[in-house]
Amino acid sequence: MRNHTVLIAGAGIAGPALAHQLHRYGFRPTVVERAAAPRSGGHIVDVRGTARTVVERMGLVPRIRQAHTGARGMAFVGADGKRVAELGTDVFGHSGGPVAEFALRRTDLARILHEDVRDDVEHVFGDSITGVDQREGCVRVTFASGGTREFGLLIGADGVHSGVRELVFGPEERYLHDLGCAVAQFSTRTELDLEGWQLMHTAVAGGGRPGRTAGLVPLPEPGRVLAGFFWRSAPDPGLRHDTAAQRDLVARTFAGDGWRVPEMLAALPGATDFYFDRIGQVRVNGWARGRTALLGDAAYCASPMSGIGTSLALVGAHVLAGELAAADGDHHRAYPSYERAMREFVDRAHAFAQGAGEGGLMPESRRQLRMRNRSVRLVRHLPRRLVARGMERVANSVELRDYPQRALRRVA
Ligand SMILES: Cc1cc2nc3c(=O)[nH]c(=O)nc-3n(C[C@H](O)[C@H](O)[C@H](O)COP(=O)(O)OP(=O)(O)OC[C@H]3O[C@@H](n4cnc5c(N)ncnc54)[C@H](O)[C@@H]3O)c2cc1C
Repeated sequence: MRNHTVLIAGAGIAGPALAHQLHRYGFRPTVVERAAAPRSGGHIVDVRGTARTVVERMGLVPRIRQAHTGARGMAFVGADGKRVAELGTDVFGHSGGPVAEFALRRTDLARILHEDVRDDVEHVFGDSITGVDQREGCVRVTFASGGTREFGLLIGADGVHSGVRELVFGPEERYLHDLGCAVAQFSTRTELDLEGWQLMHTAVAGGGRPGRTAGLVPLPEPGRVLAGFFWRSAPDPGLRHDTAAQRDLVARTFAGDGWRVPEMLAALPGATDFYFDRIGQVRVNGWARGRTALLGDAAYCASPMSGIGTSLALVGAHVLAGELAAADGDHHRAYPSYERAMREFVDRAHAFAQGAGEGGLMPESRRQLRMRNRSVRLVRHLPRRLVARGMERVANSVELRDYPQRALRRVA
């Protein structure tokens, strides 16, 4: 086998999923993760469509079911807390709705993937790559901690703001396309019993403020929730590294809104896991340069709001591992095959994501909000094949090759 050693940057979803499968094919992967230890907390992700087949092939379904958040659907509430429209998971089948059947915390999925390989795969936490020198027979990598090592291949699975992409492909501005909105979230407590429902309160644009939605998402621990905020906004580069300004912007944008928003804003200053980012889409033409390839959000983030990113990452990892195994480690053959197999899936997810959420969660007018609520109420009465069509079709729009069966066995 060629290129036996593979360095993977990022221990989110795509990185550990790739490490898991490469190890089973007989490669020797190493994972380098910037965080000092496996992360905990964070948002909920979905495993949909073909990605369900991937986690089945990896033998992870029982643990994914165990980590399920218990989510029963998403409901929109008015300023007084009364439900105005709801989307139950029962209406959409396992992959079509805003909350999939396999819905769990991103860090729980990362932990499940990590647990399966932590004894077999070298993990380096608290470090990152600062230099990449692609050579004839290897890629020489320099680490922030100071050392230099050689590997057969390098995979950038280090997320939307990928450092590997920056080093090998060029500046982020070339690849990360702003979708005109922002997201913020943090975990907190509430007295409100969500009974397994994600609750969302939407406010129409007006009075100098944009269309916006604040929501509470139930977490597995009783009484704990994820408070989320989504709003239309123009990019402001000054905000990127200024957490105080980000918190201030959330507080100003949502000040005076009804429902539980005052309680959420009161918890904002004390939040220890506050997260803020612009909503963007990663578009890279050609996911490989020499011995380096991109995977997951680093290569093709659709949008955090699309609900399809985790499925893209899981399927991408499966296809990349499978193509490398099928090509006996020859990246000249495997990388183009990976891209051919994934490109249509990614293009469809991107097109779907560009229309997702904006009018619904960030309405410009009362009429737009009324139409959103009316169409959500109508969904329950439509035939199922019409209801789940958009998301389900996208999530199933990739066909998996039958890669070598070795992937199904643990390597002793
Ligand atoms: C707010 C929010 C809500 C979302 N909601 C959903 C949802 O409902 N459903 C869904 O399916 N998806 C959702 N997503 C998207 C989903 O989280 C991603 O698509 C998925 O995590 C992609 O996996 P990944 O491994 O490619 O990247 P990530 O999960 O982002 O992992 C990247 C890893 O790389 C590490 N890293 C970063 N830089 C470096 C570096 N320089 N060196 C080493 N390591 C590095 C990071 O610490 C991280 O651990 C959401 C995302 C966000 C932000």
